[in-house]
Amino acid sequence: MSPSAVISDGHTASGTTGLNNGRSDFKHAPLTWTNFSNIIDGKLETTKETRCGINPATEQSNPSVPIASKDDVDKAMSAAQKAFKPWAAEPYAARQKAVLAFADGLEAEKEAFSKFLTQEQGKPIQFARMEIDIAVAWIRATASFELPVEKTDAGDKEIVVRYTPLGVAVGIVPWNFPILLAVGKIAAAVVTGNPIIIKPSPFTPAGGLKLVELGQRYFPPGVLQALSGDDNLGIWLTAHPIPAKISFTGSTATGKKVMESASKTLKRVTLELGGKDPAIICDDIDIDDVASKIATFAFLNSGQICFAIKRILVHEKIIDEFRNALVKHTKLLKVGEGNEEGVFLGPIQNSMQFEKVKGFFADIEKEGMTVAVGGKNPGGKGYFITPTIIDRPAEDSRLVLEEPFGPIVPLLSFANDEEAIDKANNTFYGLGASVWSKDIKRTNNIAQQIEAGTVWVNCHFEMYPNIPFGGHKQSGIGVEQGLAGLKSYCNSQTLYLRKSNL
Ligand code: NAD
Repeated sequence: MSPSAVISDGHTASGTTGLNNGRSDFKHAPLTWTNFSNIIDGKLETTKETRCGINPATEQSNPSVPIASKDDVDKAMSAAQKAFKPWAAEPYAARQKAVLAFADGLEAEKEAFSKFLTQEQGKPIQFARMEIDIAVAWIRATASFELPVEKTDAGDKEIVVRYTPLGVAVGIVPWNFPILLAVGKIAAAVVTGNPIIIKPSPFTPAGGLKLVELGQRYFPPGVLQALSGDDNLGIWLTAHPIPAKISFTGSTATGKKVMESASKTLKRVTLELGGKDPAIICDDIDIDDVASKIATFAFLNSGQICFAIKRILVHEKIIDEFRNALVKHTKLLKVGEGNEEGVFLGPIQNSMQFEKVKGFFADIEKEGMTVAVGGKNPGGKGYFITPTIIDRPAEDSRLVLEEPFGPIVPLLSFANDEEAIDKANNTFYGLGASVWSKDIKRTNNIAQQIEAGTVWVNCHFEMYPNIPFGGHKQSGIGVEQGLAGLKSYCNSQTLYLRKSNL
């Protein structure tokens, strides 16, 4: 047999799971939005104990969800381990087809997922719909790649470098984009042949469970599972001996715990962590136009985006004029319940985060900060925060150094490009950054000196699902998206294959 006949997509086995085995029950059952279950080995599983999330706009309970036990974790791990070999043995094209069908399924359920996302997460309905649209595009882009097989002719042998699946993966998801960040992990894991267990955030568990329930229509039992639980669950999953890979999105503090736990069995980790993105605004920009964009990119999702603009650095020549324009545009952003007409900022997602963000507001008085806009919160029902800009706080204040993950942002000044770069890099985070100027030579020169995984010029937030995304410094390890994201679910294997018999 020639080497190329052996090498397809990293597997030599010819086994097949039959992609629709046992799935007909799920295929025909419509999704209901009142019951939410764990999904273990292709079945909807309930638990003795349950809990409820909270609608952050109304503070009313959302539907109850399971609290997985250690036993549930063991069951899901065994099912994933059993599913691994047959799933990895499916031809790559068959897995791609299943993943693309999952994208179609999510697209068909877009309105139901969007409405529930607003109820559970709090984001305005137009942004909930956008999250589902981007999620569908991300799944499709992920399924469009082929893993490369690199061959070198070396006389009597052919040397082949290929990518083989790692084994069972665990995907740990935060609450700010509960559907989008789950699908990125699901699509990349399963298309490369790895079963995955999704753990949604305890603050937004229900949408993630429903997403995985939907996935049962397209994947064999054990390939895609979900467990919702309490604070023990993440620890049980990352410490378990079965998984080969943990893909984690969340805070830098938790990321360090995940890495420590994963190190016991040298699990591969991808860590997508916090950020403190600077926007560097040079003195030659169109002030009104750029101020409007900066307000949008600082306050979208109520500032609860890893790569939201979290420090606005403005050239000292224009800072007063720029601040006035920023204030004008920020005042236009309406805060409210996500289904109200024209709302841009929904509530902070949960009470814990709400209290954390309010702590930054308490610093305003304590530290005598100057409020450019906002500064006072509405009170009453719901975790609402007024978008707030603080004019030139002390450079060593918490607001400048830490990630509030809410709509309160410092405005800072710089005198020249060198100082802008120094200030931008003066953080242990390194997720994203943007540079704004009409002079492209200047922007591109500054951009290349920023210590961050992604740097944009005259924009922020531009994301293509086929392009890798990840953090430098303590903003993460590894990348998601693109071919590099897929390879992170694979081992690289080198085969020295002989061309002829001995
Ligand atoms: P978090 O770290 O508190 O929680 C994230 C997830 O980890 C949740 O599912 C949580 O239950 C789980 N978890 C908690 N303790 C754990 C443990 N010991 N072991 C394993 N899992 C554990 O983060 P969050 O508050 O949900 O999300 C906000 C943070 O996420 C922000 O810092 C934000 O910047 C970051 N984030 C980063 C990206 C990125 O792509 N870099 C994207 C979104 C959010």
